[in-house]
Amino acid sequence: MAAVGTVVRSRPPWIMESGCAASGCAVTRCTSPTAVRAPTAVRAPTAVRFGPVSARGCAASGGAAGPGPYARRVRIDLHTHSTASDGTDTPAELVRQAKAAGLDVVALTDHDTAAGWAEAAAALPAGLTLVPGTEFSCAWFGPNGVRIGLHLLGYLYDPDDAELQAERRRLRESRRGRGQAIVNNLRADGIPVTWERVAELAGDGTVGRPHIGQALVEAGVVDSLDEAFADLLSSRSKYYVRKADMDVFVALRLINAAGGVTAFAHPLARRRGPVVGDEVIADMAAAGLDGIEVDHPDHSFADRAHISDVAANLGLIPLGSSDYHGRNKAVRLGACTTSPEAYADLLARNTASSPIVFTT
Ligand code: AMP
Ligand code: ZN
Ligand code: FE
Ligand code: FE
Repeated sequence: MAAVGTVVRSRPPWIMESGCAASGCAVTRCTSPTAVRAPTAVRAPTAVRFGPVSARGCAASGGAAGPGPYARRVRIDLHTHSTASDGTDTPAELVRQAKAAGLDVVALTDHDTAAGWAEAAAALPAGLTLVPGTEFSCAWFGPNGVRIGLHLLGYLYDPDDAELQAERRRLRESRRGRGQAIVNNLRADGIPVTWERVAELAGDGTVGRPHIGQALVEAGVVDSLDEAFADLLSSRSKYYVRKADMDVFVALRLINAAGGVTAFAHPLARRRGPVVGDEVIADMAAAGLDGIEVDHPDHSFADRAHISDVAANLGLIPLGSSDYHGRNKAVRLGACTTSPEAYADLLARNTASSPIVFTT
């Protein structure tokens, strides 16, 4: 059975499964052996000691604890999707997969919903810590009508906060109407896809373009989701319809007010559309942004180096995450990871709840 973190509105207790307090590697291809001694019980953040982490996010050693009989690497993935939105693993399957993939900590961050949290918590395997989160659909509104869509991760916020709950509902409802509108546009050009099938594929989850992509693959229109996103479902396609977004500064305020911590997801994922400049990231930092994804599958190594510098200059916590979507994307759980030091920094911020650990 898993214990759901209670709403305490204070510095969270440092709760982690055995052996998680040590340096890790935030660079996907890094192979430096990060070793820790396990197990370690509940620890206070101030008691945690980490080895040096280089500017590129690679730790050379495990800090105070050297390799020993329990030595192993700590792996933290703070951005994943389940069937509560556009992933293909149910929340229960996702935590089991996370355990099988050797993760110590996984965040469930479905689009515009907290619906998967309870199922993931109930199925949490021993040795895995769950960080409940949400990936919020946001936009930055600049001068002269400029609007750039972006994604903001919110972790450990109070899911019952009424204002944020209403926003999540508004965003999800908009996604349904927008999904139908994209399907109508495709159908108007004779492309054989039905809203009924898309809705069936989405089930109770937040509707996203990957569901339409699955329907297009099933109908034989394209061979893969990548092919669908490269053309028919691209944000530059004539069939594309925008979804509703929260103003990113409103989102930062609401998530913070609900006791959450925030991170800017894949800030340089240009493949998806235009991205904001560094000055906007600075404004977001000034408005309370806590962290930023440095290591993400959609970032080149030059992007990672740049965002790493931006993060250091602005005092943002550098994160690494897979953005796993199950079979909807080729990326694996833990493909990019967050260092335990960055994770500790994130948890040291005030949060409404604590990460969830398996308890007996
Ligand atoms: P939406 O949120 O409906 O605008 O759809 C965007 C979602 O589709 C994001 O979660 C992306 O991670 C996902 N996505 C983008 N490109 C691809 C792709 N090539 N294959 C599968 N999913 C993708
Ligand atoms: Zn997605
Ligand atoms: Fe995203
Ligand atoms: Fe995502």
